[in-house]
Amino acid sequence: MPSSNNPDWFNPDLPPEDFRSLGYHVVDMIADHLRRINDVRVFPESTADEVAAVFDEPVPDQGQDPRAVVNAFTEQILPHTTHLGSPRYFAFVNGSGTMMSILGDAMASALNMNTGGWKASPAATEIEKRTLAWLSELIGYAPEAGGILTSGGTMANVTAIATALRTTEHYDLMAHGLQDPQRTGHFRLYMSDHEGHVSIKRVVDLLNLGRETIRLVPSHPDFTMDAAALDRMIAEDKAQGDLPFCVVAQAGSINVGAIDPLDAIAHVCEQHGVWFHVDGACGAVGAMLPEKRALYKGLEKADSVTLDPHKWLYIAYECGCLLVRDPEKLHRAFSVTASYLQGILPTERTGFQFFERGPQMSRGFRALKLWMTIKHYGAEGYRQLLRQNNLCAAHLDTLVRASDDFEALHEPTLYIYSFRYAPPDYRTRAQRSDEDRAEVDAYLDVLNQRIADTIQATGFAFLMTTQIHGRTVLRLSICSHRTTLADIDAVFAKLRTLGEMLDREAALDNLTMA
Ligand SMILES: *Cc1c(COP(=O)(O)O)cnc(C)c1O
Repeated sequence: MPSSNNPDWFNPDLPPEDFRSLGYHVVDMIADHLRRINDVRVFPESTADEVAAVFDEPVPDQGQDPRAVVNAFTEQILPHTTHLGSPRYFAFVNGSGTMMSILGDAMASALNMNTGGWKASPAATEIEKRTLAWLSELIGYAPEAGGILTSGGTMANVTAIATALRTTEHYDLMAHGLQDPQRTGHFRLYMSDHEGHVSIKRVVDLLNLGRETIRLVPSHPDFTMDAAALDRMIAEDKAQGDLPFCVVAQAGSINVGAIDPLDAIAHVCEQHGVWFHVDGACGAVGAMLPEKRALYKGLEKADSVTLDPHKWLYIAYECGCLLVRDPEKLHRAFSVTASYLQGILPTERTGFQFFERGPQMSRGFRALKLWMTIKHYGAEGYRQLLRQNNLCAAHLDTLVRASDDFEALHEPTLYIYSFRYAPPDYRTRAQRSDEDRAEVDAYLDVLNQRIADTIQATGFAFLMTTQIHGRTVLRLSICSHRTTLADIDAVFAKLRTLGEMLDREAALDNLTMA
């Protein structure tokens, strides 16, 4: 140990016994937090300025006591945390975080493997490959598929659509990018008008394709894409000399959980020679359920599928995933080389390189927490959890339809459910004339937004609004592995109480229509 001979040498590691007791203390804090997860305030009481003030401190010049450092968890962080792990957190599409994820991330960090190249991460690379193969099998996707774990669904979509673009025939985008002087016409990408996801805008921004690349395809009343309209649009664009290169279908859409007619869309894509990408960040894993499998018919024909383990597989952030039917296309799109990246002589002690399958070079050991959770629950355990979430959404739909002060807006396909607080007086008034309807809608937009804002402030539950056909409505994304039917009953009752109260207050404020 040459460094220990020098008394001035800074030894940055803790003595082993100190590390052990500090680690036990950290586990105790985490375990105490999880024991209370059903009862915590879901959203903190603090304002944005107050939270900023808690962490407003100068850069530490001198090192601090390690125990004081980790105690920030209970003293500074927990009181200002939104608890995505709570059974009554229903915003966006945010997974709840499995216990195995917590342990998996700690173990992955302990090894500090960089899952970019095989040599730096032999076990991590093989675990990621195995996990991808499991996911592919679980959702009934191509057995020969490859893929990569990403930071999230957005980067999975970026990776898929970059691959689609590079695979577009006629143009060697590898050499010339978008600046090929031979190219004429605009690249075109298609998604549905109501439920197409905002991350696709991010993708075309990053790829510098321009927002006009996105063509919005009309959807049916059930919010699924009209495949016949898609077919016509692609044909028209081709006739104009444009370059349709990708269709993005939804498998579980963001506002209502709709699943596009994947089989019909696959057929259109095949006819036109266009890459078929399924954005299943919300819902691809629903294909694990035999009772839902028919809705996913055609998924197996997709060129690529995004799924997001940090959403409906409840894995702790971050963990997104892209599966690609022909892994060679992914490799072609992302392979780069430099002398320092590889040895010269062939050897058995090297293998698959994830840095050649996606945008990142250095990458963490994301697969471990997912691999461990799949082992812990098993496919059957996961199916049970997915079913429980779907049951909660179906139960909420039943409550809404049985109440005259709430309005159902769609069938609950999976676990995402949007609906509106709309007392009967208002609905009767809306029938009278278009003008009345417009006034009632404008009022209910404000009322539903206030209900969401107010329930957030109570800390009892956290949900947001969204827009359905331009109207502000309540939306619950029920993708916590901890949510029960009793949570849904309690939240529904609270929404009704708040709705009545806020409507009365609005009457006092003269905001009301009545
Ligand atoms: C959440 C979501 C994304 C983006 O995924 P992130 O993990 O948030 O980056 C993309 N598409 C759909 C349908 C989503 O629900």
